[in-house]
Amino acid sequence: MKPNFILILTILFFSNKIQGQIHSNFVNKNDKEIQNAVEFHKKYLSEFQNGSTPNYSKYWHKKDCEKYKNPDAIVYSISSDYPTYNFGNQKTIFYARKNKDKNDKTHTIIHLKTLFGDIDSLQKITIFAITNHYIKIDNLGNVLNFVRPFEIHKDLYTTTQNKNITYHYPKHIIFNPEKSDNLIVQIRKFEKEWEFNPINFEYFFTNTQDELGEMKGLDYFLGMEQSTPSGMAFPDEKIIYCSGNGEGYLHEVLHLYLNPLYENSPVNHGLIYYLGGSLGYNFDELIQKMNDYLVKYPETNLSEFENIFTKDITLNIYNVVTGLLCKIIYEKEGVNGVKRLLKYKNFTDLFKIEFKINKKDWDFFLKTNFKKYSSNKK
Ligand SMILES: [Zn+2]
Repeated sequence: MKPNFILILTILFFSNKIQGQIHSNFVNKNDKEIQNAVEFHKKYLSEFQNGSTPNYSKYWHKKDCEKYKNPDAIVYSISSDYPTYNFGNQKTIFYARKNKDKNDKTHTIIHLKTLFGDIDSLQKITIFAITNHYIKIDNLGNVLNFVRPFEIHKDLYTTTQNKNITYHYPKHIIFNPEKSDNLIVQIRKFEKEWEFNPINFEYFFTNTQDELGEMKGLDYFLGMEQSTPSGMAFPDEKIIYCSGNGEGYLHEVLHLYLNPLYENSPVNHGLIYYLGGSLGYNFDELIQKMNDYLVKYPETNLSEFENIFTKDITLNIYNVVTGLLCKIIYEKEGVNGVKRLLKYKNFTDLFKIEFKINKKDWDFFLKTNFKKYSSNKK
């Protein structure tokens, strides 16, 4: 999953307080079909505003709802647990275009673009997302359903199946079978060790975040300009989306396996860091990054690791610390030890029982171990 930015937290705080209206401001206001599509879209967006999600079958085609619990690829694009549509107090449908459906000439597709933003008291504008939605209209002018952006633009993408992975990617990418085979070897090893059955899943990937946005139907989303490899996993849908790391993004795949069992464990994401690395770094490199960080910011108190805001957005302190705990236990006791670690509900108990230390000593313990593993590597 993506790193959590302080910025996002701040924005959520404000966005939660005021749920904005949805305006429409586009040229062709008198077309009945466009009007119907806009009303449909507004109603859909408004269903996210009370903190719930809509009944997707009211808005999406039956075949999409049968395949996916949530057929809308845009909903969790900025944050994996807060809908894109709830960002910003100003939501404006600013573009409405009518096209013949390329794949079905008897129907019309209304293409809408919506801007999600905020204007503060100094008239500064913050933009969170610019989305594309495609609404299918029958020959009587009635709204039928949303069509997935990926479906609309399917001529731009291609698919490769390798064992239990169905890859989808832009046609300009040349598929790397060795990288994919290597991922499968890692997955099989993990399944065997952790006693999981293989999962069939879809793996959407691109070179950049911009391309990934386009694939999902986003012209822009907050964080798109990050150039580090990044991804998101959706275990219910059995989908991963990632950019910048080609066919081999083990981290997101591990979320598909581990989240259904351990999502509520405070060390689940750390375990995934330990096994799969993050943002293009393996765990040894993350330990090195952590040590470099501690040299640069010696005032960092790791006894407070649960609440520290990182000064380096490519280093998630919480996940690297909890990854280190998994590494220590794994090297002593293997998978069974880590499974025990996953059962703890809080770190006070975990440190007290596993390492016999109280909170004030976590800092020394963690720093000593980060150093130890760093020197081991060299
Ligand atoms: Zn993750």
